[in-house]
Amino acid sequence: MKVVRKIVKIDEEKCNGCGLCIPSCHEGALQIIDGKARLVSETYCDGLGACLGECPQGAITIEERVAEEFNEEEVKAHLEEKKKSLPFPPLLAQPRRLHSGQYNFT
Ligand code: SF4
Repeated sequence: MKVVRKIVKIDEEKCNGCGLCIPSCHEGALQIIDGKARLVSETYCDGLGACLGECPQGAITIEERVAEEFNEEEVKAHLEEKKKSLPFPPLLAQPRRLHSGQYNFT
């Protein structure tokens, strides 16, 4: 369902594709595609802006616009899929902050 809400905006002109923002997004909402950071799905972005401070180019901002609602269930499924595509299992469990504010160590 579409609503008016805060969501990440990436300035393609400023983005140099360095990838520093990718790990800062705990929802896996950002990916480098064709040499630029892209929001892969509106439903993965919670609009909190954890990625903002990571961009040396100042290419990421938060805007308020009509977008699909954040969907935590879709994020969980997306992260599970990403985990499966890793060539090796992660060596150490990384604490991941959930949208609820709790931490998940799996
Ligand atoms: S950190 Fe900034 S410049 Fe680097 S890929 Fe992300 S948006 Fe682009």
